[in-house]
Amino acid sequence: MEELLCNLSPEQREAVTTTEGPVLVVAGAGSGKTRVLTHRIAYLIARGVPPSRILAITFTNKAAREMKERSIALVGDAAREVWISTFHSFAARILRMGGEAIGLPQNFTILDTDDVRSLFRAILEELNLDPKREDPRRYAAEVSRLKNEGTSPEDYLKRFDPTRPWERLLAQIYLRYEERKAQTGSLDFDDLLLRAVELLEHEAGSRLATRFRYIHVDEYQDTNPMQYRLLHALTREHANLFVVGDADQSIYAWRGADPRIFLSFVEDFPGAKVITLERNYRSTQKILDAANALIRHNPGRPPKELWTENEGKEPVRVLFAGNQNEEAEAVVKRIDALTREGYALGDIAVLYRTNGQSRVVEEALLSAGIPYRIVGGLRFYERKEIKDVLAYLRLIANPVDDLSFLRVVNEPRRGIGESTLARLRDFADSMGSSLFHAACRADEADIPRSKAKVLIGFCTLLRELGARSRELPLARFVDEVLEVTGYRAALLALPEPERSSRLENVQEFLNMATSFQALHPEADLPAFLAEVALLTDVDTFEEAEDRVTLLTLHAAKGLEFPVVFILGLEEGLLPHHLSVEEGNVDEERRLLYVGMTRAKERLFLTYAEYRSQYGSPMRPSRPSRFLEEIPSELLVVEDVRSPWAREILRRHRFSTAVADERETAGVAGLPSFGRFGSSREERLGKTGGKAGPEDEPWQPGDRLVHAIFGEGTVVQVRERGDEIELVVAFPHPLGVRTLLPRYAPIIRR
Ligand code: ATP
Ligand code: MG
Repeated sequence: MEELLCNLSPEQREAVTTTEGPVLVVAGAGSGKTRVLTHRIAYLIARGVPPSRILAITFTNKAAREMKERSIALVGDAAREVWISTFHSFAARILRMGGEAIGLPQNFTILDTDDVRSLFRAILEELNLDPKREDPRRYAAEVSRLKNEGTSPEDYLKRFDPTRPWERLLAQIYLRYEERKAQTGSLDFDDLLLRAVELLEHEAGSRLATRFRYIHVDEYQDTNPMQYRLLHALTREHANLFVVGDADQSIYAWRGADPRIFLSFVEDFPGAKVITLERNYRSTQKILDAANALIRHNPGRPPKELWTENEGKEPVRVLFAGNQNEEAEAVVKRIDALTREGYALGDIAVLYRTNGQSRVVEEALLSAGIPYRIVGGLRFYERKEIKDVLAYLRLIANPVDDLSFLRVVNEPRRGIGESTLARLRDFADSMGSSLFHAACRADEADIPRSKAKVLIGFCTLLRELGARSRELPLARFVDEVLEVTGYRAALLALPEPERSSRLENVQEFLNMATSFQALHPEADLPAFLAEVALLTDVDTFEEAEDRVTLLTLHAAKGLEFPVVFILGLEEGLLPHHLSVEEGNVDEERRLLYVGMTRAKERLFLTYAEYRSQYGSPMRPSRPSRFLEEIPSELLVVEDVRSPWAREILRRHRFSTAVADERETAGVAGLPSFGRFGSSREERLGKTGGKAGPEDEPWQPGDRLVHAIFGEGTVVQVRERGDEIELVVAFPHPLGVRTLLPRYAPIIRR
């Protein structure tokens, strides 16, 4: 017991040992909130609380896994029995245990975001609407909103405004969507929480609701109203609710999280003990000073300053690049230098606001031969072969899952085409049955004999597999599915390199199943499928490998790295223009605060003078207001622009136009760009720019340098009206571009 508590500060110890009643730990980043939560679990077990009566909710499955491992390390194997999971995994688990009482099948399928989108697309098609013109995502988002505010399709049908065509359509779509899910025994992510609340508030769920004596929630500031109701249902008989959070790190409002829930904890749970922690154990003082200075600009927050005993030598650095390619190169150069100083690649993270920003960095890392991993992006489970295998497993576990049926009935090819499927659909509708059950009786339908035979054969095969799923260990079973369905044979028949890469992914999936089974020996197929469906981006990344980690600021929550780069500190990007338009700059500031406080020893912020987004041409950008908010003595700015970028801006008249634009913008938004831009004289082209080869006419074969594209060769000179047009060849992948030398940021070599 002493050992458990001796590594904690007095405040942390108090939080750990206050076991009864509501407790709120409110504290800044890196102050040990998550650590306190883990120690508290261990402490409860050491005090004799049965582990199965302890529940902890984390934000990702990865965090759950880590917390479990740490508590096992602290108090031994007993900690295995503790329930540690995300809200969604928790909901799925109790619904599998008791969902039948509220009319759910035990083997329900969980629809991920992708499945939900396909379902909406299918419904739009049924209603003869074009899913290309009517964005399924928009309907998915609206339906999700309605559900979370507690409006059922029936409620909405009564209340929508019939003079508005869009609302009428939404009502129809919502109803169908819910019907479809009911028919196919599926639940989306919203349903998991909604139905779990329903179960816990129901008579039949009361045993489950009172099972947990000690409840813990990490990252409480990002709780949404439905999760809050779930916590209420769990604390009916006692109020042993222990939550930790930091209002400054609330970054999920866009996903329905409600920061008021955090702020009103003390009123909601009377008698709550509030513990604050101010010492940071993660970062150097220099990093904290910069992060504190930034977050101080958010209005309406109680003053709270983090301090640490770790002074630190290295200042926070701002790398000021000419454009996004130079930004990426500067980052890669730094990474290289850091590894020579002794940092491992796994110590380094590159954070960015939008997924699209990773590509340039990836390319730079690739060409420097530095291994990296991306958290997010195309997820493992979104790959075709993995989705196919999963669909087989889902259909076996839940034969009424039509979506999965459609995915695999002709995968590998069995000669079942659109027209057979349309007839099957009619037959199923006429009986009110699922596609699978209709297929089993295909000989009674208006379907050609040969096709009917194939369908019936498919049914028999899956039924046999259903029986096998209860006999074989999980990984062996998955292997058998691949074999007898002919799926593996079909992969083997593919041309290279597809064949190898798909087979490797399928092998990786088998490894996953094996390790899942090792961790949960009692788990059955539905449990495995639920686990897979609820994995988040962050969950699929393992720390052990020596690679640089690339991830969004949102995904970085709760993590820490010795070295952190944050890219693109520019107006429009960070803060993101959508948030600026919605007047939500404070949330962007919190997002940057989260990013900065991930760093333990070194922190780099970058800014590029030009950037192209979403494939648009390069545009001049302005430094983020956040850079201006951090006092200059806390930042060291390094100009990493290439000599060419500098030279071009200095000499070309294009820079004058840019400078003018900036000057105007500066009046509106920013006090000065002095620290980050070149001097005004320089920008206005007053300091140099001798006339010279610029004035000679262009000729094919001339070499030039473009501020963004780099070196190129003129292949053709054309006249168009008064203008001269240059056709210039740039190296692959840029290719041939047409430029107007009067405006383009180029100089002759
Ligand atoms: P965040 O707000 O970012 O989630 P947090 O408050 O949850 O941060 P932790 O991740 O728990 O902070 O702790 C940050 C780091 O400080 C971890 O590496 C942790 O092990 C370390 N730490 C926390 N408390 C102590 C302590 N008393 N002694 C030594 N190290 C500590
Ligand atoms: Mg934490």
